Amino acid sequence: MRPSPLLPLLAVLLLAACNDDPPPAGTGGEVKTPASTAPSSPTPDDAPADGGAEQSADEPLPPGETTPPGPAEPDAGLSFGHQPPGVLPAGQGAGYLDRTVWAPAMCWPLQEAGYPNSQVYGHGGGMGPGGGQCDGVNYALPWRDNFCEARSRANPLCGGSGTGHQGQDIRPATCKKNQHWAVAAEPGIVTDIGSYTVTLVGSAAPHRTYRYLHMQMAALAVKEGDSVVAGQKLGKVANDFGGAATTIHLHFEIRAGLAGVTTDGKPVTLNTFLPPYLSLAQAHQRKLNGGTCGS
Ligand SMILES: [Zn+2]
Repeated sequence: MRPSPLLPLLAVLLLAACNDDPPPAGTGGEVKTPASTAPSSPTPDDAPADGGAEQSADEPLPPGETTPPGPAEPDAGLSFGHQPPGVLPAGQGAGYLDRTVWAPAMCWPLQEAGYPNSQVYGHGGGMGPGGGQCDGVNYALPWRDNFCEARSRANPLCGGSGTGHQGQDIRPATCKKNQHWAVAAEPGIVTDIGSYTVTLVGSAAPHRTYRYLHMQMAALAVKEGDSVVAGQKLGKVANDFGGAATTIHLHFEIRAGLAGVTTDGKPVTLNTFLPPYLSLAQAHQRKLNGGTCGS
């Protein structure tokens, strides 16, 4: 037996260990952090040195598997022209690819066709290439994802600064305001009407929240507290922006009703802004296929 000679050393080591624990905020090693606090502290991993090209989004392949099934192309089966989800035109921000279809049965939120693309970086937008908002490019395929487009609004799913576009901008069927109806994405309750926002919370679990921005607020078809069915008219797409004007478009958001995780492992907490592009695309495809909503 070796008695006491080691004890002082051991004590010193233990003390040192205690002094180092816990590590100072921000330097702590691996993620012990509870999911709910993770989004507010972006890690250096969010700014990859390789420019962010194709990070490994999924687990390593099982050994020996030569033709792995992998995740299906998230936009497989879409018959209309569209850019892939998560892919933004150069100079418009990083975007964010999450393969989850967060609202798999929702209705396309417009009565007619629409053109998802950036109202800020497109023609007629504040960061756009010039021209007017009615430029034909804005009212044509392909669709373009603009979730996590470079914007100043907080959005924990967007890498780097944790800011970015919180939803999807959709131009209506034609460049005319106060004409094209926005409709309820699913049965729910109109819980709030702001100066340029209408909030709809789904009645069924997981009680997603949908926000519709920039409708013609003076002539909405609903009021706070109304119950609506899927596909019910809410208001007409316009450019209302709380006294100011924006371009004619519907800004459409889906917010989480339940905690979860994205396909690359980012935590989703209650009310997290979710990438709506794939849900919109599949809803639009169902409409093209002759599906009806809410009937
Ligand atoms: Zn928007």
